[in-house]
Amino acid sequence: MKDKKNIHTKSNFRKGRNRMMVVKKQVLTLQAYTPGRTVDEVKKMYGLDQIVKLASNENPFGSSPKIRDAIYNQLEDYAIYPDGAARKLKERVAEHLQVPEEQLIFSAGLDELIQMLSRSILDADSNTVMADETFSQYKHHAVIEGAEIREVPLKNGVHDLDAMLDQIDSNTKIVWICNPNNPTGTYVNKLTLEAFLDQVPNHVLVVLDEAYYEYVTAEDYPQTIPYVDKYDNVIVLRTFSKAYGLASFRIGYGVGKPELISHLDIGRLPFNTSSLAHIAAITALDDQEFVENSVKKNAEGLELFYQFFNENNISYFPSEGNFVYFQLPHHTSQEAFEHLMKQGYIIRAFPKALRVTVGSQEQNEGVIRLLKEML
Ligand code: PMP
Repeated sequence: MKDKKNIHTKSNFRKGRNRMMVVKKQVLTLQAYTPGRTVDEVKKMYGLDQIVKLASNENPFGSSPKIRDAIYNQLEDYAIYPDGAARKLKERVAEHLQVPEEQLIFSAGLDELIQMLSRSILDADSNTVMADETFSQYKHHAVIEGAEIREVPLKNGVHDLDAMLDQIDSNTKIVWICNPNNPTGTYVNKLTLEAFLDQVPNHVLVVLDEAYYEYVTAEDYPQTIPYVDKYDNVIVLRTFSKAYGLASFRIGYGVGKPELISHLDIGRLPFNTSSLAHIAAITALDDQEFVENSVKKNAEGLELFYQFFNENNISYFPSEGNFVYFQLPHHTSQEAFEHLMKQGYIIRAFPKALRVTVGSQEQNEGVIRLLKEML
């Protein structure tokens, strides 16, 4: 009893000791990111030896074989913090893209850059415009910052830039354009994007998320790095996680006006990207042959899926990424997802469709064989 009384003393109230700890109320509306079942979990659940994971758009061909040697030979002192400014990598990427170094910022994957942009730019007085559906993390971080979310339905699977423009007002801070779009694989072409950028007011930042840039083969896909100079309000995002096959290292970057980059740099964690990631990314850039080969095999894999879809009246969107989004005629996406998972193939189920990462030829044929069983 004595102890209980103690809790309610005036001084404890003043110190706030009796108040409950609370997170921002909007955090309670969200769920932590669930990466899906791990390979080991699925193996155990279904008693399988082999799992083919085609759920997260990783590179099925791994990464350049030169990376292992580079890491072994170049990183010696593990006790030293990485170069927070990623200077060597910055120099190499600047050369690769032919842009000034002041236009670059590096992050632990684009996931972190999306968080950094949201944290520095969005607040409860602002709104942000994005497609529905698109990459989930734009909305996730905007919700945490308390911003109003304005989602604009895709039109035939593609960003509807006219409708997105209509959603912009004086409180809009960021418009997200995922190009190619995840999960649909569709893209906004050069003419449409430029017409849009010409009309977006200067107070709105347009984020062009080009995570799958290297895989694109469409000739009218926009080359957007020059837009950073041409427009005042554009940032282009690229990552080493996809075609370069470095998802485990967590390294991506943004290209934007130096003033924006310096503002984002204030919110960047001091050592957000690791020394290993810097070495891996530099080495990956030096092996463009690996990327070209991955891109070529990806295009062949897509063709294989298209052929199967066309022959079986399965609706899909032609994709510019390393994945394809499709809908089976007589089954829910969950049924198809489970059928494949029982056989050791993990793909991704969305409410109305499925998304499969394009794998090796053998993996693609495996997916097609299992889907055929369901038709
Ligand atoms: N943007 C898009 C469109 C993506 O699909 C992904 C990965 N799924 C990311 C960003 C984040 O990629 P990372 O953090 O691995 O660079």
